[in-house]
Amino acid sequence: MATVDRTPAENRSLGGDHSPAENRTPVENRTPAEDRATADERSPAEVRRPGGDRAPGAGRTAVLVVGAGPVGLTAALGLRARGLPVTLLEADPEGRRREGSRALFVHRETLRSLDGMRPGLAAEISSFGQTWRTVRTLYRGREVYARTFPPSVRQAGDRPGLPPFTSLRQVDTERFLLAACEAAGVRIEWGARVAGVRVSAAGVAVTAEDGRTWSGDRVVAADGARSAVRRELGIPMEGGHAPGFHVVVDVAETPGAELPVERVFHYEHPGVGGRSVMRVPFTGGFQLDLQCRDDDAPDSYGTEEAVRDWLPRLVGDGHADRVLWVSTYRFLRKVAASFTDPARRVLLVGEAAHLFPPFGARGMNSGVADAAAAAEAVAAGTPEAVEAFAVTRREAALFNSAAAGEALEHLRPRRRTVRAKQRVAAALAPVVPRCGAWLERAPYGPRHGSPASAGGTY
Ligand SMILES: Cc1cc2nc3c(=O)[nH]c(=O)nc-3n(C[C@H](O)[C@H](O)[C@H](O)COP(=O)(O)OP(=O)(O)OC[C@H]3O[C@@H](n4cnc5c(N)ncnc54)[C@H](O)[C@@H]3O)c2cc1C
Repeated sequence: MATVDRTPAENRSLGGDHSPAENRTPVENRTPAEDRATADERSPAEVRRPGGDRAPGAGRTAVLVVGAGPVGLTAALGLRARGLPVTLLEADPEGRRREGSRALFVHRETLRSLDGMRPGLAAEISSFGQTWRTVRTLYRGREVYARTFPPSVRQAGDRPGLPPFTSLRQVDTERFLLAACEAAGVRIEWGARVAGVRVSAAGVAVTAEDGRTWSGDRVVAADGARSAVRRELGIPMEGGHAPGFHVVVDVAETPGAELPVERVFHYEHPGVGGRSVMRVPFTGGFQLDLQCRDDDAPDSYGTEEAVRDWLPRLVGDGHADRVLWVSTYRFLRKVAASFTDPARRVLLVGEAAHLFPPFGARGMNSGVADAAAAAEAVAAGTPEAVEAFAVTRREAALFNSAAAGEALEHLRPRRRTVRAKQRVAAALAPVVPRCGAWLERAPYGPRHGSPASAGGTY
């Protein structure tokens, strides 16, 4: 079985009826920004930016967003919040079923940004998601760190109840974003697989595989790791990948046998031959992330049969028939050479622009930051604003890539000294608490952001 990059060809749905996704009431409260945008659409010649000056796109679609993943949906929402008409082009058909285990961890910064686009959205997402207060680290079967945090303290300017993070499956996050986009008046074209992009002085024209075309003043490309828009513009990805792979398994919780709501990292777990494994709760279940060795055959850990074999040794009996998805991923670290084209008409965001290993949860969280910055630049409407977006978000991506690389070096040590340091820290942890704290922190890379570039954590 081949391992995959960001397109989990090896995902298998194993009992989708366990899916924790629920149908939720679509967003119903209208926001002032949305009311303004709806009025603008009735008479597009009157489209105006919040500052009062005329926005681009009078009489036609002002902005096209390609890709309805979490980043494209956020970009569309951000553009609507700024009063711009948006058409979102998505290759998949309406009502699609998204494959695979992906992002769980939605940071407070991301929630705050989404709430700025649609007040109330953060509360909707976080009241569905789960926030654990206990983190635990083990080393070869022995606990070396545990901490339970007090209930979160509200930060200045935040709405009541905004947690430090929330954990839910990416399909659920996307469900909330899609409902918000629909309520905000984003026009969505499903089954529109973009294959061609033509940039001119007047704007951008995109063509779908089936020959349909759309034009706009600008395009936000959020079409993922194999971005057709990026390919059409001839922008290369720079970077590479680390050897080996990891197996990610989503498991629906078993009624009556729920595991504690704790994030647990276990170095060199004896139940899986000394491989490291992390367990992360999400609403309705938990995700296991198993670090395989470079010379492991994917079949030995990443098949449904293999998972049924090793899962009970990590979480006990009764869970193996609750597996939702099994995916294998490689460790890509790539950043686009540029986040825009020479005419500053197309803005690359999310995985169309960068790929990181998931440790530190920088993929979707930084994609949301890209999308917010792209919406701001497009609303400003100048090539200079787009250029500033491209430079700033590329710097942030390079920082995020380095941070994820740091986490990877700790999780999959190349040097014997790193493994020895972990062993010594584990031995000292009972008497030197900061050794345990280091073992707890290090798998996620640095916690701080690059203030000069990203302006935040991501
Ligand atoms: C195991 C794992 C765990 C992760 N955990 C986290 C985490 O906890 N937190 C976090 O922040 N990130 C995490 N990530 C990363 C996160 O999943 C990605 O960063 C995120 O999915 C990227 O979103 P996107 O919208 O850029 O791309 P995608 O989700 O890939 O969406 C792209 C969209 O574009 C569409 N599309 C593709 N081609 C075309 C085309 N030609 N025309 C039109 N539409 C097209 C696709 O159908 C899709 O809908 C994790 C990733 C993995 C693999």
